[in-house]
Amino acid sequence: MTTEKCPICGKEAKHDWFERNAEDGNRLEEWFDCPHCGFYEIPKSSMLPYVFSDKTEQNTYYVSCYLNETKSEHDSNNPIRLSSEVLNTIVRQVPKTVEDKIERLLQYINHRTRFFGDDVEVQMEKFHFNTRVTKLITLNDKLTKTLFSLPADEYYDSLQNGTSIAVNETVSRGKKIQSHFTLKSGGFAALRRPLNEFDRAVFDTCNSARAANFRGITPDSLFRALVGGKNKNTRLSPDQSATIFDSLERLMTVIEIDFSQTCEKIPKYNSAPGKITAQILPCQILENVLVNGQITTIIEFIDESPLLKIARAKKQLLTYPVSLLNIPKQNNTPLVITIKSYVIRRVLEIIAHNMTPTITFADVFKHCELSDANRFQQRDARKIILDIMKHLQSNGIIKSFETTKKDGSYYSVTITF
Ligand SMILES: [Zn+2]
Repeated sequence: MTTEKCPICGKEAKHDWFERNAEDGNRLEEWFDCPHCGFYEIPKSSMLPYVFSDKTEQNTYYVSCYLNETKSEHDSNNPIRLSSEVLNTIVRQVPKTVEDKIERLLQYINHRTRFFGDDVEVQMEKFHFNTRVTKLITLNDKLTKTLFSLPADEYYDSLQNGTSIAVNETVSRGKKIQSHFTLKSGGFAALRRPLNEFDRAVFDTCNSARAANFRGITPDSLFRALVGGKNKNTRLSPDQSATIFDSLERLMTVIEIDFSQTCEKIPKYNSAPGKITAQILPCQILENVLVNGQITTIIEFIDESPLLKIARAKKQLLTYPVSLLNIPKQNNTPLVITIKSYVIRRVLEIIAHNMTPTITFADVFKHCELSDANRFQQRDARKIILDIMKHLQSNGIIKSFETTKKDGSYYSVTITF
């Protein structure tokens, strides 16, 4: 046994020759035990540059990454033999698209994570993690609306006692259906307060990122989408970060939804199971991940949200460009984010369902937890609502709007399309 340079990565590796018994006679082959690539056998290392069908430095790099990732799976007892066939298979598996790269990155992290919050060092600098959400999907069905605006008593009754909540709604062609849901296990955040409109904004953004084929999102990217994607360098403050993770924890609550009637009444979904148990937002949080030279956290999407699946079946999704959330002159506090998300959804809903084009301030206050706010806070919130209206007007979503008064105080905004 000697020490040689690893022909794949160039590090000092243990090396020796051995005789392989093959059908057409014995052959002299080599094995390497490299600190980076692990244990592998190779027909003739001097031939390595020629066994790749596409011989480039990059290919050698990919093979090195592959061997490093799978190191624990091949040792001297279970060696991997790098025939030209195997080498070319590895190269063919190299992710080419951004989504594939993220997928690979997440598989890699998953593979290397021993426990929640484990440090995972991502050495593959070539995997860029860049999620930019440009289109927002928001769920406009009664089931989702009910879930995100449950009164505290009903919420805790479901979460703690398993009481099921019935939702009556009218779906396509006036069919009436009833579904039921129960909140199952939730973390500490779930116990602190019911789900609200801010949680829903976070939920919409994550669903939209997943729908755009991103397998995960960083908190910074999530926040950028929440505020209209304006500044590429927007970084989360510790407070904003805490608010987002608090929401995510609540969104990881397990929900059981019985939507058998949806399946019955929407023929296309006859074959779907009538009951789903899953996290409201099926995701997991990977902490301390080193990506592109920076330690970050990744929110990895495990599956599509059951609520999104059902809303899609009912054809109750609304979409709009993220840039619509980029409203001038607004600080992006959780309250502003909440009001923006709610008001824009309401306007789109009015357009989609040809509803009475009036939004009362009281309705916005109720959904944005401002009913008990003092008159100065309500005045500020009214100003935000009117700024949103101006923004929607300048973007051509609405033609005009006017505020109405009732008994001498501001009552509603009436919109013309
Ligand atoms: Zn090596």
